Amino acid sequence: MTSQAPKKTGQKRFYSRRKVCQPCADKKQDLDYKDVDYLKKFLSDRYMIEARRKSGMCAKCQRTFARAVKRARQIGLIPYTPAHRGVNPINFRR
Ligand SMILES: [Zn+2]
Repeated sequence: MTSQAPKKTGQKRFYSRRKVCQPCADKKQDLDYKDVDYLKKFLSDRYMIEARRKSGMCAKCQRTFARAVKRARQIGLIPYTPAHRGVNPINFRR
């Protein structure tokens, strides 16, 4: 298909926001897994890594970011799910 599709309405279904890679803009190319506050900005409310088309990150940052988040999860800095927010695990017995 060429780009000669007829325009039916002037409305765009998705308005294209200017996408700027946030870590690049902040000069934070090497995202640190210890920088939880910064990493959390790019997590969804369910602590999931935001898709690249949502976060607008460049491929490089998205990779480093995903790695940092997974690393932070393993050592318990970032929860895997919202249910993990409690201090004690579910089957915690005193
Ligand atoms: Zn970037």
